[in-house]
Order: sequence, then C-alpha cells, then structure tokens
Amino acid sequence: MDRGEFELIDAIRSRFTVPGGVTGIGDDCAVLPEHGGNETLVTTDMLIEGVHFLLPQASPDSVGWKSAAVNLSDIAAMGGRPVGTFLSIALPAALDSAWVSGFMDGYSELSQLFDVPLLGGDTNSSPDRLCINVTVLGECPVGKSLKRSGAVPGDIIYVSACLGDSAAGLKIILGGGPADSVEEMEVRRHYQPIPEIPLGMHLQSVPGVHAMMDISDGLASDVRHIMEASGVGAEIDVASLPMSSQFRQVCAAHGWDPVELALCGGEDYKLLFTAAPGSILPDGKCIPVGRITSGNELRWIGSDRDFGGFRHF
Ligand code: ADP
Ligand code: MG
Repeated sequence: MDRGEFELIDAIRSRFTVPGGVTGIGDDCAVLPEHGGNETLVTTDMLIEGVHFLLPQASPDSVGWKSAAVNLSDIAAMGGRPVGTFLSIALPAALDSAWVSGFMDGYSELSQLFDVPLLGGDTNSSPDRLCINVTVLGECPVGKSLKRSGAVPGDIIYVSACLGDSAAGLKIILGGGPADSVEEMEVRRHYQPIPEIPLGMHLQSVPGVHAMMDISDGLASDVRHIMEASGVGAEIDVASLPMSSQFRQVCAAHGWDPVELALCGGEDYKLLFTAAPGSILPDGKCIPVGRITSGNELRWIGSDRDFGGFRHF
C-alpha cells in the first residue's frame, strides 16, 4: 500500500463518527460490543463496473449511494437494524481521488440517513474495472428476523411502495439520458434507492407478519423466492400494483408496458412481505397486491398474461 492509499483511507475515515464502545477503521479488525438479546445479521454484495453500473454515465456519488443502499436494503428485508458497514474498493488508475471523494459523498449521505457508521474495508488498485464490495452487519432481537420461509396460505401479500420507477429510470439512462424533470425523477429513483430500514424494523415487531424480502429482481421473480422457501403458492392481482404518476407518464410517452416494467423491471429495493389478515400494519406504506395460496402455483389475477408465472416445482 502506498502513501496515497493511506491518505485515501484517512479521508474516508474522517467522514464517519464511530459510536462509543466500537473500534472502527484503523486496527486489524473492527470490534463491536456484545449486545444482549440480539442476533447478528451479515450481508455482502459486489458491484462491478459494466455489470451493475456504467461509467462515465453514473456519477461517482450515485455509485456510492447505490453501493450502500442495495446492501442496507438486505438488512431492511430481514427487519434488522444496520450496525455498521465495510467497504472494499478495487480502483482502476483512471479514477483519481476526486472520484473517490465523490463516491464517498453518496456513500456517506445514504449511510447517515440511517446513522450507520463505516467500520472498515480494503483499498486496492485494479488493473481494469472498478469493483466495489460492501458488507453490512445488522442486528435483530433473537428469533425475530423475517425470513422468506414464513409465508402461510391465507396471508395477504404486500409491497411497501410504488414499483417500476427504477426500471423506467434505467431505460431512460440507456436511451441517452433524461429529457425533462419527470424523467430526471425516474433516473434518481434508479441511482438513489432508499432502503426501507425503519419500516422493516417496525414490521419485524408486528404480530402476524410472516415472511419478508426486498424487491431487487422484480416482484414477478421475487415472489417466487417466497413461494419456494415457504412451500406455498401465490395470486397477484395485477390491477392493484401501485405505480407512481410519473412512472405512468414516462411509460405512456415511450410506449412502455407499465405492468411488465413494474413486475419484471427490478431494483426497486422496496419490501415484499406477507401477513395474516387483520394484522395491524402502518398506514400508507403497505399496499396489498395479492395473497398466499396452498399448492405451488403463481397466478396472475386480472391479466391473461403469465409474466413467467405458472411455474410448477
Ligand atoms: P490490513 O493490512 O490490516 O488489511 P489496511 O491497511 O488494508 O489494513 O487497512 C487499514 C485500515 O483501514 C483497516 O481498519 C481497514 O478496515 C480500513 N480500510 C481500508 N480500506 C478501507 C475502505 N475503502 N473503507 C473503509 N475502511 C478501509
Ligand atoms: Mg487490507
């Protein structure tokens, strides 16, 4: 490691306040105090230039924001509280310290939204593409994390927000960039998803909430993960899918099928969960889109298309 890399780590370190009792960046390991009554959640995700984002189209701060957001979303998906993140960067020579500083602007801004300190990582040069790995530690009361395997027939299926905006944003980026402020809004939804940390933590404490995950591949594919893990079927009511007005507007302008994008587009980073009828859920953020059935079929109500459903296993 050369002088420049030590300076880079110092610059990264100076952006975060580490909570009392925690050893963060600077030693051989981070050290976290014991916290009775909780179990530890760990998640890690890699983002690779050309696979998960394009340079130079993606600004450094949007890559930083998204690197933190997609990982924190996995903690939200279990109903956990994020405790700290670890950030490893393989940096090609073409990206200088100004790029890393922009990246850290986005990474820190999103982390600070949820008060999550950066506790360590690794920094290396890359002969080719930029590669970023983020690991997040979280915690949850023992036995209370919400898994994909808890759904039971009769549960109502909910999503926590409108779907499809991120997928529309990606199509706008790939089509050459936003043409107006509505399209800019959709692009922001793609680059700057906001993980559902407070809602996830709340749902973890609500009796009757049985299974949860975050929507990363799209509802059509993600609901199958809950079906397979829980050994159940599902019905999705296509007419009830929540969509924002700006999403409908850009779909109409470009001739895109909003239902297809909302179901199959992905990268929403919102929650998909199931709960027994009558569960006391927070207002506004829980939109019913279907129900869990016995058997193993996925059925689309109100549409003669199957969106890849009807898969038997
Ligand atoms: P080691 O040789 O023990 O792996 P390093 O010199 O790689 O140590 O890192 C020194 C300290 O800086 C460690 O605490 C490590 O976790 C932290 N660190 C290195 N790179 C990053 C980074 N990109 N983000 C956050 N912390 C980092
Ligand atoms: Mg190291």
